[in-house]
Amino acid sequence: MRKYYICPDGQNQEITECIKEGGCRMPERCLNRHTLTALGVQREKDLNNLVTTTTELLPGTRQAYLKLTKEYAEDPTMLVFLLLGLAMHSNLEKRGGTDQTIVEERLTEDGISGQFDIYEVENDVATLADYKSSGSYMVSKALGVVKEKVIDPTGAVYKTSRKDPNNPDKYLYQKGDPKMVDKFAIDPNKADKLEWTLQLNDYRIKVEKTGLPVHKLQIIAIVRDGGTYLAKNRGLEKNSYIIPIPILPDETVKTYFQTKRTALLHAVQTGEMPPVCSMSERWDDRRCEKFCPVNIHCDHHAKLTEREK
Ligand code: SF4
Repeated sequence: MRKYYICPDGQNQEITECIKEGGCRMPERCLNRHTLTALGVQREKDLNNLVTTTTELLPGTRQAYLKLTKEYAEDPTMLVFLLLGLAMHSNLEKRGGTDQTIVEERLTEDGISGQFDIYEVENDVATLADYKSSGSYMVSKALGVVKEKVIDPTGAVYKTSRKDPNNPDKYLYQKGDPKMVDKFAIDPNKADKLEWTLQLNDYRIKVEKTGLPVHKLQIIAIVRDGGTYLAKNRGLEKNSYIIPIPILPDETVKTYFQTKRTALLHAVQTGEMPPVCSMSERWDDRRCEKFCPVNIHCDHHAKLTEREK
């Protein structure tokens, strides 16, 4: 359970204290009290009667277990994008559904509860979609953006020569050579979007169980750092993208989620620490280093930190 906020000086402050009037321990609040209060709202989970959620089962079981059983801290300024999601959801709720559109429906199946964002039928095609507010790294990977060097179409040439810093006998390019520039393309075969694919397919199965057809799945990705140099350097020129998600066989999806659910329930019931999250679950350790709020409770993260010293 998230119990603390990490203040700008790196110290923790209990959320219940932080959101009280005068409860900020710094000279100035990092976010206003209203935002900090909204971000602090969490649903209490009954661990003896655990209903797992689709999103909870996507990362590694160790991370899910630690989030359920340990107190942890997060930087509220890094959580603020959650509010964008909430604002988007409440707008959808206000708009409500029409005959052809269903928004924000929570469905539970085999002990796993999941809430999709939007189900829409147009021209007899039923699309199930979910909004994601993600960094350019994630969106670029999910789209399958690939970068290649091509000759500058403007015909520009290098004005000076440059040697290879690793091999002084070799030139990277010489004066007068055609200038090479980055070109981005989308290669669907390189797209890495497994977690989103599993999540949307789980929602699809739940929706189909109610009798509604689903023909297409998509993620509407909002690029958090859209428009920045970093995002452009990852091949993203727009601030939002529709990312098509493949339909997986039902059995693959059900087996994945039930296996993860059983492992999580076992860990919660016995108190046994689950194995280290798999390489793909921990995003080649990137998640451990920067995006796992419970990493202080995990010996794998401790080993990574030790290795860096
Ligand atoms: S630090 Fe890495 S291995 Fe440990 S729980 Fe977090 S994601 Fe999993």
